[in-house]
Amino acid sequence: MNLQIDIAPGVAYESPSQIVRTCTEAWGAANFYCPACSRSSLAQTPANRKAVDYACDSCASVFQLKSRANLGDRVVDAAHSAMITAIRSDSVPNLFVLNYDALWRVRNLLLVPSFFFAESCVVARPPLSPNARRAGWIGCEIHLNRIAPEGKLWVVRESSVVSPSEVRRQYETIRPLSQVAASARGWTLDVLNALHKIGRQEFTLDEAYAFEAELAVLHPNNNNVRPKIRQQLQVLRDAGLLEFVAPGKYRSDDLRSAYAHGRDSPPATRLAHVALRGSPSRRSRRRRVRRGRVLLAF
Ligand SMILES: [Zn+2]
Repeated sequence: MNLQIDIAPGVAYESPSQIVRTCTEAWGAANFYCPACSRSSLAQTPANRKAVDYACDSCASVFQLKSRANLGDRVVDAAHSAMITAIRSDSVPNLFVLNYDALWRVRNLLLVPSFFFAESCVVARPPLSPNARRAGWIGCEIHLNRIAPEGKLWVVRESSVVSPSEVRRQYETIRPLSQVAASARGWTLDVLNALHKIGRQEFTLDEAYAFEAELAVLHPNNNNVRPKIRQQLQVLRDAGLLEFVAPGKYRSDDLRSAYAHGRDSPPATRLAHVALRGSPSRRSRRRRVRRGRVLLAF
C-alpha cells in the first residue's frame, strides 16, 4: 500500500471537495483490497452509483469512501431517511474513512463494516434553508463514537499500514454479527457499545443493567429493556464476542483493548487542500502540479 495520494487527477476540478474526492478515489482504486475475502483489489464503480464507490468482484461486497483532512468523530453522509432505510434493509455499504495529512499522504484509514451501522449512530442534520436549492432536505452525520470499537478496523493507523491478514482476521472475528437480522442488530450493537464503557474485560449483569436508561433513550418503543439486555448478551455470546464465565458474569478480551473507551480516534490533522482552493486558474494549477511545486504551497 502506497500512502502517497497522487494529486494529478484533481487538476481537472475547481472545487476543493471535488479535488479531494477525485484524488482519494483514485488512490483507493489503486490501493484498496477486500477485507471480506482474499481479493487483492476493489473495482471502482460508475460515478452515478449512489453511495457506492467500490465493489469486490469476488464476494460482491460494496464500499463507500469518505475522505477528510480531519478524522474527527463525525462523517457527513447522504439523506437521513435514505440512510435509515438502508440500515433497516441491510443495504448499507462498508465505509472507508480516509484521513490525509498536509502532504497528501494517507495518515489514517478506518473501515466500518456494513453490519456495524445502527440507527443510533446516524444523526439528522438541520433541514436546508428555504433559500437553498434543495430546501428542506435533511442530511445526516454518522457519529463514529457511537460505533463499538470492534466495528472500527484500522487499515492504516498513524501512517502505519496494518497488514491485510490482520485486517481480514479482525473482520472474520466480527463477521458473525452480519448474521443477526438487521431489525434486531441495532440493539446488539448498542449494548456492545455500552459494555465498552465499563472499561474492564469482566463485568456483571448488574453493570450491564446500569445502561438501562441510556438504552431506553435509544429505543423508546421498548419497555422491557433489562430482558432485552440479557437477550443481547446471549446474541453477543453466540457471535463469539462474549463469554459467559459464571451466572451473571461475563467476559470479553476486546473490552479492554487499546482502542476502546473513547481513545479510538487518533489526533486530527490540518486541512490539506487549502492550497488548491482559489488558485488563479486551472491552467496555472496544472502547471504547478506538473512542476511538482504544489506540495510547497502547503
Ligand atoms: Zn471480497
